[in-house]
Amino acid sequence: MSFSFCSLSSGSSGNCQYIETKGAKVLVDAGFTGKRIIELLKNIDVEPKDIDAILVTHEHIDHAKGVGILSRKFNIPVYANEKTWIAMEPIIKEVKSENIKIIKANKNFEINDILIHPFNISHDAIDPVGYLFFNGMKKISILTDTGCVNEGIKTKIKGSHLFFIEANHDIEMLKNGGYPVHLKKRILGNKGHLSNDDCLSILSEVLFGQNEHVLLAHLSKENNLPQLAYKTIYNGLKEIGFDVEKDINIQLTNRDNHTEIFNI
Ligand SMILES: [Zn+2]
Ligand SMILES: [Zn+2]
Repeated sequence: MSFSFCSLSSGSSGNCQYIETKGAKVLVDAGFTGKRIIELLKNIDVEPKDIDAILVTHEHIDHAKGVGILSRKFNIPVYANEKTWIAMEPIIKEVKSENIKIIKANKNFEINDILIHPFNISHDAIDPVGYLFFNGMKKISILTDTGCVNEGIKTKIKGSHLFFIEANHDIEMLKNGGYPVHLKKRILGNKGHLSNDDCLSILSEVLFGQNEHVLLAHLSKENNLPQLAYKTIYNGLKEIGFDVEKDINIQLTNRDNHTEIFNI
């Protein structure tokens, strides 16, 4: 076993994902109060003081809210690119200088036994990134909060054993729903979020049907339904010939609760 992965919570009210290897325990985003993240970690029997790093995808509050408090309370290094550091400063406040780790898109870095590759995505934040994680022969990809995905990103995430990928909204639900027009435009735009259909289209190009785990992430409360997201991906992959029952493990993530722990 190379990785354990658990989505502690995913959605527009807050995001926090947990990755563990033999040598490292890492959070990706910490978009709740410190108190809530401590609770979420306790629920899976992880002590917050044992976290080796917090990686930030972008400065939006649902990803950055608890970053500063956790770093200060438990002396945890925080990894983000330079522009994101500047943009999230008002949210996370002061972090000890030794815990400020500046990363660059497309430049690999290591946290103990995990090799990490950050890559640019397309979202209305200052410099948002997705991440690939490598340990042994295993690979995890994290791709949320992006309005579109280019060929380069598809190539990068291809071959992952676990995909944590956004299925934010159903296009019809969003169009017919109660959001103001400017917000609908934002979400549907190139710097918004991936729809269920976008998610399906990406997965159809990057999956091999070799028992990959697919975790549907960042579902909108107003513009999606868990079963609709699940069915769209399940039926869509089945239609193009995948044996979804046997060869792909599709799972929903939760808005305020952890998933099972995936060991890969
Ligand atoms: Zn978000
Ligand atoms: Zn965002």
